[in-house]
Amino acid sequence: MTARLTEAGLLLSPIGDVVQLKACDFCDGEKGESIPLAEELNRRLGGLKVPKELKIGFNGCAMACYGAVTEEIGIVYRRGTYDLFLGGKKIGRNAHPAQRVAEGISPGEMLETVEQVVREYAEQGHPNERFNKFFKRVKEVAGFAYSDERKPVIEELACGD
Ligand code: SF4
Repeated sequence: MTARLTEAGLLLSPIGDVVQLKACDFCDGEKGESIPLAEELNRRLGGLKVPKELKIGFNGCAMACYGAVTEEIGIVYRRGTYDLFLGGKKIGRNAHPAQRVAEGISPGEMLETVEQVVREYAEQGHPNERFNKFFKRVKEVAGFAYSDERKPVIEELACGD
């Protein structure tokens, strides 16, 4: 099963208990610097079987207007590097943003780290266990320690920064 870029620029993946990449539209492609990395990530992980549906939010700038920082795994492109967020919960009375676990990591490091996170979840998650619950239960994923604290997301930046 392959994902594809829609006319709006969104990457779509198969549905079900699989990894889905949920990218922004990169301002209709005008801020498309990170699109190749989004496509590479989708090539590596899109459609991979996991214990429960797992959305990876991928936003092409620090505005993060498609809400990557509230997804179970969130990636935000920023000045040639990536910030990584883990364990968000979008829905429900206890909804909360994800935990910021890394800032300013290189493209290669981002790909390897996200692959490792997903691999650990696929191998150690219980059936139907969402990633945010898994992270809370195991307390450490890919070397990142779980924390209940949610630090504010970097400083507000103008669109494009
Ligand atoms: S403002 Fe940033 S996050 Fe929003 S669509 Fe444009 S590139 Fe993506």
